[in-house]
Amino acid sequence: EERIVIVGAGQAGGELAAGLRKQGYKGRVLLLGDEAHPPYQRPPLSKGFLQGKVSLSDLYLKPLATYERFEIELKTGTRVEAIHRSSRELSLGDGSRLGYDKLVLATGGRARPLNLPGLEGARPENLFALRSISDVEAMRGRFVPGGKLVIIGGGYVGLEVAAVAVQLGLEVTLLEAAPRLLSRVTGPEVSSFIERLHRERGVRFRLACEVRGLELDEARRQVRGVSLAYHGVPELLEADLVLVGIGLIPNTELASAAGLAVDNGIVVDEYACTADPDILAIGDCANQPSAYTGGRIRLESVPNAIEHSRVAVATLMGKREPYAAIPWFWSDQYGLKLQMVGLSTGYEQCVTRGSAEGKEFSAFYLKDRRVIAADVIGRPAEFMAAKRLVSSRVEVDATRLGDAAVPLNSLAA
Ligand code: FAD
Repeated sequence: EERIVIVGAGQAGGELAAGLRKQGYKGRVLLLGDEAHPPYQRPPLSKGFLQGKVSLSDLYLKPLATYERFEIELKTGTRVEAIHRSSRELSLGDGSRLGYDKLVLATGGRARPLNLPGLEGARPENLFALRSISDVEAMRGRFVPGGKLVIIGGGYVGLEVAAVAVQLGLEVTLLEAAPRLLSRVTGPEVSSFIERLHRERGVRFRLACEVRGLELDEARRQVRGVSLAYHGVPELLEADLVLVGIGLIPNTELASAAGLAVDNGIVVDEYACTADPDILAIGDCANQPSAYTGGRIRLESVPNAIEHSRVAVATLMGKREPYAAIPWFWSDQYGLKLQMVGLSTGYEQCVTRGSAEGKEFSAFYLKDRRVIAADVIGRPAEFMAAKRLVSSRVEVDATRLGDAAVPLNSLAA
């Protein structure tokens, strides 16, 4: 009986296993993950789950009974150590070997570690990253009113944690090396909107700041403070806990050790295939051609994990359905929905609708008179039209685009 083995029981791996059964795949499906949990959604980790509003079982993508019903052989707590391509086998953490006919790598990524003076060899108990359920379980007990939280990194994870923490009554300071928040993914208008949103609720910022080191206690088990330079002036911030959110490193080591090409992710084609016809890679760990950018991209988002698993199911079922979706993403901060579509890199003009001083507005990024990306904040009804604008690539009139009285739909037509 043919065997598909999936390494990584995360969002992409979980969707793929279920998708194979939904499409009528009859062979064996094995889903191996090194975490203690069945596939779960990570977005609530930095939002409702950290806040205590979402339960563990709500995080799970599917109830355990579904894996039984679908005859998916889910093996949690199982780490894959190596791929032996010539014999089509895997080495597992317990020393055993497992054969495969088709292998899908859905290994995701891990939080980028902070390398700072003062930290050498130490693993302080109050220094955290946020990638998994166990990360949240380790930090949640310290989210108490009055606690001093220093967040290093002004990306989505850092900002979402800041929002949860001030709402729980912590004193939050967020440090960012760039002069503005979310600088890699959004325009200055949106950065300042988000900064204001947080400042109004009491989050303090040190933008364009240089983190110089961590002060540990004598036993080197607790961080006591974070030293930094802000506008050239040295400063020591006291901290009861520190969260580092400075990005993700894709888990590509299995692939590279097996001789597969890796370049900011495991290199795959538009059908999720590596150069080995029996090995595919999907989700955060994969670098794929993008019909949208014309180049290669590695995306870190749930919509990408879902779309990429759909492409891989088609490939494994003998169909050829290239990845064609446009990147999109969302974030929740203070109950406000931020939705982003496209990639704004290289835009020439930013057109806004609504009021950046108010609670809701949208920013459209134009290049060659076409909308290449949009950020829609607190206006969910506008998001579908924004998506259509980006995907249709029609030329738009910037004045009409900026006029909230002109229906967005009429521009996409
Ligand atoms: P993962 O979900 O990371 O799964 C990979 C799994 O593989 C992990 O369980 C890992 O432990 C396991 N693994 C790795 N190596 C091995 C091995 N050798 N053997 C066995 N198992 C292995 N996206 C959004 O679109 N919107 C959001 O609001 C959003 N918020 C987020 C908030 C947080 C805090 C985080 C961490 C992510 C968020 N994301 C969000 C991103 C989204 O969760 C990821 O893009 C998505 O989980 C990627 O799915 P994946 O299956 O590729 O990787």
